[in-house]
Amino acid sequence: MAFQDPSHSSVCGSLFGGPDLGPKFFCIAANNAATAGSSTGLGTASGSSGPAALAGGPRHPAALGGGPGGGATAPQQHNKLANETPSPADMEPDRPIGYGAFGVVWSVTDPRDGKRVALKKMPNVFQNLVSCKRVFRELKMLCFFKHDNVLSALDILQPPQIDCFEEIYVITELMQSDLHKVIVSPQPLSTDHIKVFLYQILRGLKYLHSAGILHRDIKPGNLLVNSNCVLKICDFGLARVEELDESRHMTQEVVTQYYRAPEILTGSRHYSSAIDVWSVGCIFAELLGRRILFQAQSPIQQLDLITDLLGTPPLSAMLSACEGARAHILRGPHKPPSLSVLYMLSDGATHEAVHLLCRMLVFDPCKRISGRDALSHPYLDEGRLRYHTCMCRCCFTVASGRVYTRDFEPVASGRFDDQYEKTLTSVWQVKELIHRFITEHQQGKRVPLCINPQSAAFKTFIRSTAWHSSKVSKKEER
Ligand SMILES: [Zn+2]
Repeated sequence: MAFQDPSHSSVCGSLFGGPDLGPKFFCIAANNAATAGSSTGLGTASGSSGPAALAGGPRHPAALGGGPGGGATAPQQHNKLANETPSPADMEPDRPIGYGAFGVVWSVTDPRDGKRVALKKMPNVFQNLVSCKRVFRELKMLCFFKHDNVLSALDILQPPQIDCFEEIYVITELMQSDLHKVIVSPQPLSTDHIKVFLYQILRGLKYLHSAGILHRDIKPGNLLVNSNCVLKICDFGLARVEELDESRHMTQEVVTQYYRAPEILTGSRHYSSAIDVWSVGCIFAELLGRRILFQAQSPIQQLDLITDLLGTPPLSAMLSACEGARAHILRGPHKPPSLSVLYMLSDGATHEAVHLLCRMLVFDPCKRISGRDALSHPYLDEGRLRYHTCMCRCCFTVASGRVYTRDFEPVASGRFDDQYEKTLTSVWQVKELIHRFITEHQQGKRVPLCINPQSAAFKTFIRSTAWHSSKVSKKEER
């Protein structure tokens, strides 16, 4: 299939183009929207953009939340920085943009350079040891990631003295939407869109899995996209390092039900990165059909919908299932597979598409394709070409043509090390470690940021996060 002019990226850019963004999007001004996430340099900040920008300057914190001039903590420094940024009239007001599993996200202006970024408040951090550990793990992961299809931390706001340290604020790149919003919107989704989205999901997933990390909540709402169709996997609130010891039990309280793999639904005590690939298969089908593939009311019905499509699994595929789940499946009538219905998802459900889908939606996790192998499927060739021709940051164009990277789908530099978790025994100890981690993370980088508690926008932000926090706490208690 022929591509349009590769040097022209508007095929992808048209997804959110035009005036029909609607109020539920982030109201980024046109000039910002055009550059967000492309080559603004935002994404490289975690790596270090900083020394050149502001090294050597006074290390006063700049304040977020109030727009220029609002820095209560270090007004002089802040005013100086503000003078170098666009005028207040050019800036969008701070506003909420999303509510993840464990946090609230706002769109704010970085007072150091006037760029729009996402500010995430992590609530209820120090309630108990479990939440402390979860947040510490997420923070470390966000600072560890260096991949264009995985959201990472650009900055962490400077914490107050440890006695007053109750909340953590993380700055990430601002993305304009997510795949859930795209799927339920009336915007057309071409085969090219689907291929380039699926390619990026698997590219990010290969990186995560190579670091030994299971995401455990891959769903359309956790796949952020911008107007150029660049996609980033986000929300690592449930992520963890893969447990290689099969005798160790893992929690089954993971993955939003519609995207939950059969091994979790059948009560397996141990699972692998294959659970994320199952979720991607469900999302692939959802992109094609623009409706949730397995949408059931309860986990048992969820399992029934899966076996309706895949047929009754053989006993060999249920070796790790709990007795009750196995009995439930065997008690029912024998179901033949009905995979041919996948061809009816849409016109985009070609033989190639259905073939890859059927390799991802395999009941037995040992026989399911891996994220890495899925990337070798011919269905993704065009997505790879499009991504590296007009969207990526690893290849570049010179007068004689495009210079492609040697490694289209890079792996992590090493495994994410979670051995530190074994030594965490008390809330206070973790609090000290997190405080030190944030302080050390900032050293030698850009002028640190802090919250401007005087700003009206911040007061609204706090109210929205307090409301959300109460909901999260109830959820955690269940
Ligand atoms: Zn590239």
